[in-house]
Amino acid sequence: MMRQFAFLPAIVLALGSAAAQEPAVPLPVPRPPLPEVKPADEIRQEAAQAGNKSTAPEGVKSEEMTQGEETPDGENTKAEAVILPPVPQKKPAAPRPVNPETGAGSPSPLPAPAKIPVQAKPAFTLEGAKACEQALRKLNVAFTVEKPIKGPGHCGWPRPLKVTSLSRQIKVRGDIKLRCEVVHALARWSKETVVPSAILHLKEKPTAIEISTSYQCRRRNNARNGKLSEHAFANGVDMMAVRLESGKRIPVIDRRGSAEAERAFQAAIRGGSCAYFTTVLGPVTNASHADHFHLDLAIRRGGYRLCQ
Ligand SMILES: [Zn+2]
Repeated sequence: MMRQFAFLPAIVLALGSAAAQEPAVPLPVPRPPLPEVKPADEIRQEAAQAGNKSTAPEGVKSEEMTQGEETPDGENTKAEAVILPPVPQKKPAAPRPVNPETGAGSPSPLPAPAKIPVQAKPAFTLEGAKACEQALRKLNVAFTVEKPIKGPGHCGWPRPLKVTSLSRQIKVRGDIKLRCEVVHALARWSKETVVPSAILHLKEKPTAIEISTSYQCRRRNNARNGKLSEHAFANGVDMMAVRLESGKRIPVIDRRGSAEAERAFQAAIRGGSCAYFTTVLGPVTNASHADHFHLDLAIRRGGYRLCQ
């Protein structure tokens, strides 16, 4: 379906090129009696959402992959890669032909990865932090303000929070230090998605969320070089499992192929997490995320989100 749409502009381009021998700049093309030609941006987004490497322009993917926290190289395109577009969308570009296989004719060629600006550390203001902390209190999050983490290098965060529970019902297992906004996202996610999903799919209430890693000064994928992980800014968290009232532990694992209710539960909380976090990686991403969800609030150009 999407392939059909994606190829239409290419056909239009091919016809125009054959006649004029000038394929570079498409002249105003009379509207063909074909289904509407979608705006190039829309085509690119749909291609990206489909997670199909053969239909997604390389430029879009490569940018997201380089900006994505802990994003694997290569492997991820086999998974259910879904790059969510920003809402609302920015400029609606005029319909222009894009070759879905090569990306040729893409209206705004994206810069090579090397030219992408260095990822910014999240901005901090004391007023913003205190307003966020007030929001946590309204959600009954139990936390304490810890002393600033300063370095080494760019690592650290001025006002990390130590969190022991995300609500009156949901405790946190693990020694976590995070910036307030991540805690807020976790608290809302647990309240609005994890609790109802557990009741719906597993027929009991969750009591705790297990966290393995929160703040940690390191690079993405623990590599020796490259960009710092969002963990290094207290801006990312690894979630391992949910504990239920019965004491049962529901770990994050690759549940593809399973017919059990745990699969539906995990799919529900993973999907829901994409509404609160800008990066969601998990077992379908690659082996290094086989036993947890990585959730962070990385800032990307254009507000793009990475949800896998
Ligand atoms: Zn992580």
